[in-house]
Amino acid sequence: MALPTKKVYIRTFGCQMNVADSEVMAQVLADDYVLTERAEEADLYLINTCAIRRKSEEKVRSLLGSLKVWKKRRPQLVLGVGGCVAQQEGERLLAAAPHLDLIFGTQGIYRLPELVRRAWMGARPVDVELAPCFPPLPRRQWLGAPLQALVTIMQGCNNFCTFCVVPYVRGREMSREPGVILTEASAFLAAGGKEITLLGQNVNSYGRGLPESVTFPQLLRRVAALPGLNRLRFATSHPRDLSPDLRLAFAELPPLCEHLHLPVQSGANRILQAMNRGYTREEYLEKVAWLRQACPGIALSTDLIVGFPGETDSDFAQTLDLMREAAFDQAFSFKYSPRPQTRAAGFPDQLPEEVKAERLTRLQSLQDELTIKAHRGLLGQVREVLVEGLSRRSPDQLCGRLRTNQVVNFPGPREWIGSLMLLQITEAHPHSLQGRPLEVPLTSQPLADRLPASPKELSC
Ligand code: SF4
Repeated sequence: MALPTKKVYIRTFGCQMNVADSEVMAQVLADDYVLTERAEEADLYLINTCAIRRKSEEKVRSLLGSLKVWKKRRPQLVLGVGGCVAQQEGERLLAAAPHLDLIFGTQGIYRLPELVRRAWMGARPVDVELAPCFPPLPRRQWLGAPLQALVTIMQGCNNFCTFCVVPYVRGREMSREPGVILTEASAFLAAGGKEITLLGQNVNSYGRGLPESVTFPQLLRRVAALPGLNRLRFATSHPRDLSPDLRLAFAELPPLCEHLHLPVQSGANRILQAMNRGYTREEYLEKVAWLRQACPGIALSTDLIVGFPGETDSDFAQTLDLMREAAFDQAFSFKYSPRPQTRAAGFPDQLPEEVKAERLTRLQSLQDELTIKAHRGLLGQVREVLVEGLSRRSPDQLCGRLRTNQVVNFPGPREWIGSLMLLQITEAHPHSLQGRPLEVPLTSQPLADRLPASPKELSC
């Protein structure tokens, strides 16, 4: 078969789910297009968008504006917008940007080859159809000894948190068949892969609607049993659906990394209720306590929204208080911004921007304190790192992640990239750690049984 001669450039905004979707986009187009990292040489320029916050949507619109000149200079370039903003705006986006050739929504990515063909012929197609079940994905090719893989296990959400646009732009929950997930994961491991992250908007409700009865913890157990898997992660979990079985998984599955992202959003019951989150602060903290009991070294990260409509000083103080009690290792925090179609956009008592900004600054400075405290707690410890690449801090340093998800920089040759090895943590910084290699990497097998005994050692 002839190799593709045309080039596609994909610009991705947003979360890991979008990163995984962009990988699928490259794959479905692989018969006709080779992926390029140089936008200026592309024949096809695709933007994979995020609508979760107003700011991310504004970034897309601004990029789209700047591409007008490009399109004028190179009228043969096919320019497409996909993902959440495309799903939300559909035809409106096409009308607002006459230089656009193609709109495809969150599920349109699977029909891209045909859509692109139509765009080449000047049809300006718009595909924002949402199907009720997971479309078959192409068999993924794992080329060039990949280290980490994002494997989508479900999409969409039925929860309708009042601030969130996801159920509208991704549709209702739909899970992928376990057999398909296991085949994809096995192929990745056979190609030399080491770490798998299972992805979904709410992985804890995985399995609903599948012909075979399978829960998320059961799926985790099947993936964790695949030969050659060193590390297993997942995102994102809804606190309400976090089951005792999942807690057991942290205690029992060796590849499952000791890190959980558990978005709390607010520490005030009044606000949690207005957000339609389905749990109270007490229930959330209780789950944190039993997770820490099952897995004493577990690192927790979270998402937080400040300035939700009606949030008082006292509500905000309760959020700060919950952060201290949960002792999050990391938090992704944002000012509330009203999103189209969501209920909260119509709530009274929308807060002024300056109140939101002031609260965000206070919250982030508290999280900085909590993060550095957690980092200092790691000083002197010996931990396993997966060497991911060159450090951004210095060209003669490498960087990787601990199982607990912290970034660590350390000296070493490029040949170590892709290895698992042991490090001693020597410095704690606000956003990363510094380490000292204890050995030359010799194996790609899990190193847990070679870690020295220590009272601080993870006991999952
Ligand atoms: S659980 Fe809530 S915040 Fe998460 S994707 Fe669903 S609606 Fe959005």
